[in-house]
Amino acid sequence: MKSGIHPTYFPEAKIVCACGATYTTGSVNERIDIELCAACHPFFTGKQKIIDSARRVEKFTGRTEKKSATVLTSADKAKKEATRAKARAAKKTSTEK
Ligand SMILES: [Zn+2]
Repeated sequence: MKSGIHPTYFPEAKIVCACGATYTTGSVNERIDIELCAACHPFFTGKQKIIDSARRVEKFTGRTEKKSATVLTSADKAKKEATRAKARAAKKTSTEK
């Protein structure tokens, strides 16, 4: 090997998964952090797992909660419908003249 051109090689580099599993390998990086490994990947475990590194699920649930808070109750809807019907009736009588 030519000296001075190769990166430092770590024969005992550690791969650390978010689930806590660690693996040892040879690499130019001393430590490699991963989100999935064979011990926790849904394909191998058979269980669903949501990797939400960008907080997309959290944002979505927040958005839907905000929407559901503004949804009218049935009493509000009935009141709205009554006022609408009244307005319609008033319009009808004014056009019949
Ligand atoms: Zn893992």
